[in-house]
Amino acid sequence: KSIVAVVGRPNVGKSTIFNRLVGERISIVEDTPGVTRDRIYSQAEWLTTEFNLIDTGGIELGDEPLLVKMREQADVAIQEADVIIFMVNGREGITAADEEVAKILYKSNKPVVLAVNKVDNPEMREAIYEFYSLGFGEPFPISGTHGLGLGDLLDQVVSYFPTLDTDVHDEDTIYFSLIGRPNVGKSSLVNAILHEERVIVSEIAGTTRDAVDTPFTKDDQDYVIIDTAGMRKRGKIYEATERYSVLRALKAIERSDVVLTLIDAETGIIEQDKKIAGYAHQAGKAVVIVVNKWDTVNSDEKAMKDFEQKVRVHFPFLDYAPIVFLSALTKKRIHTLIPQIKLASENHALRVETNVLNDVIMDAVAMNPTPTMNGKRLKVLYATQVAVQPPTFVVFVNDPELMHFTYERFLENRIRDAFGFEGTPIKIYARRRG
Ligand code: GDP
Repeated sequence: KSIVAVVGRPNVGKSTIFNRLVGERISIVEDTPGVTRDRIYSQAEWLTTEFNLIDTGGIELGDEPLLVKMREQADVAIQEADVIIFMVNGREGITAADEEVAKILYKSNKPVVLAVNKVDNPEMREAIYEFYSLGFGEPFPISGTHGLGLGDLLDQVVSYFPTLDTDVHDEDTIYFSLIGRPNVGKSSLVNAILHEERVIVSEIAGTTRDAVDTPFTKDDQDYVIIDTAGMRKRGKIYEATERYSVLRALKAIERSDVVLTLIDAETGIIEQDKKIAGYAHQAGKAVVIVVNKWDTVNSDEKAMKDFEQKVRVHFPFLDYAPIVFLSALTKKRIHTLIPQIKLASENHALRVETNVLNDVIMDAVAMNPTPTMNGKRLKVLYATQVAVQPPTFVVFVNDPELMHFTYERFLENRIRDAFGFEGTPIKIYARRRG
């Protein structure tokens, strides 16, 4: 998927536009209890084209002077995005900061679409002409608050998307990445897998500026490990952008079938871990929780049970993810990891039979009465699986409004009891039959 970044001064209206472009998706994401809200990277859609949107405003750091902030924003956009939306304020005209950003963007040779915001009515369209001087061709007048002009703007943005998807994703290969805060042991685990797990490593395939992809084979199954952590150790340029490593991790997640979320047994679980784990869940990927540095704690059965308990409390939204305890350093229990990756990947792609699914749903409904609202009762008519990766179900009902989330949760649990789906999130949507 292509990546679009929105760059512009504070208060130019970036967030309003961002929310409009991302539409409802963001609320779906935020509905998940325990998932930290984070809008820096979201999925958006225009007509039939899906893309990822970076809100560079959302990653502004601290109280640096405006120009420093703007330069950073522009740098991130240039690094990460395929197309940049440069947003200016039609009511204020061109400012010094705008010119500064324009210069940086201009030099990057990335496609830039110039959006002139706050053009709320036709009389104001005159205002856009002065923006030609920024050097990005035709300015697109938009109104974030009224939702005007976005269609033309997006047509232009989409026209710049690279058509050829160079990222070949072989269906029979399991792609996985590792995420976790610094020093949790990501690099160590990559090395441990590649050097100790008796895998057959092929030549390193695609090495992008974001990650190193290493293919390997184990027990006749092909894998690709997408390593972003190792990049950091490769030099200055990367170092400079370490602050934005989260974007890099998100891109790796995007390309993964399975995401390993690492936790440090030595230091325990902290807030940052939850946020990072939330990314994997939101992306709808299969997830395996890895508790690393298990050599540093008293690692008996009871300790494992206790730690597992803690993980479940802190990551309620990952209740489907298996937990693997290991040490990347001593390689202890490391052999337990790959089978879990494989299992999670298989479940992520699992398709169940419609008639069995409907038996399960109807049994569930018979067991636990459907919710009512204002005297009207939810009627569940039938269900079908509409997608895999992750498994996605549509339940046809008399009125979707009546589908309370606790009932949806109940149905999810019944589906899980029946089919497993360990390691993968599943999605359920209620639709009106019609
Ligand atoms: P990254 O930042 O997540 O890539 O973490 P690194 O792989 O660079 O590891 C950070 C530190 O933790 C290094 O000093 C490692 O030697 C150490 N480390 C990694 N895995 C383990 C482990 O399983 N046990 C112990 N005791 N230390 C580990």
